[in-house]
Amino acid sequence: MVSRLLGLFKRGDEDPDCHEVRGVSSDYIDSDLDHASEERVRKHLEWCGPCNAFISTLRSTVSMLRSLPKGEASESFRERVREAVKNEGDD
Ligand SMILES: [Zn+2]
Repeated sequence: MVSRLLGLFKRGDEDPDCHEVRGVSSDYIDSDLDHASEERVRKHLEWCGPCNAFISTLRSTVSMLRSLPKGEASESFRERVREAVKNEGDD
C-alpha cells in the first residue's frame, strides 16, 4: 500500500510533459518549434514552476553565451556554465 502511494507520488514527479518541455527547451528558446509544439510548451509553462525556472535559466545562459565575443567562451567557461545549469536543475 505504502509503496503504491509512493509510486503515485513518483509518477507526479515524472510528468511526461515536463520531460517533453525540457527536451525541446532549447528549440523553444530559439523559436525553432512548430506552432503546435510551441503552444504546448507555452501552456505547460503557464502552470509548471520547475519548468519555468528551467527555461528562464537556460534562456539567460544562452543569451549570456551569445553576448560574448566569438572565442571568448573558452571550453572551461562553458564547462562551468554547464555545471551551474546542472546544479540549478537538481533543486
Ligand atoms: Zn513541467
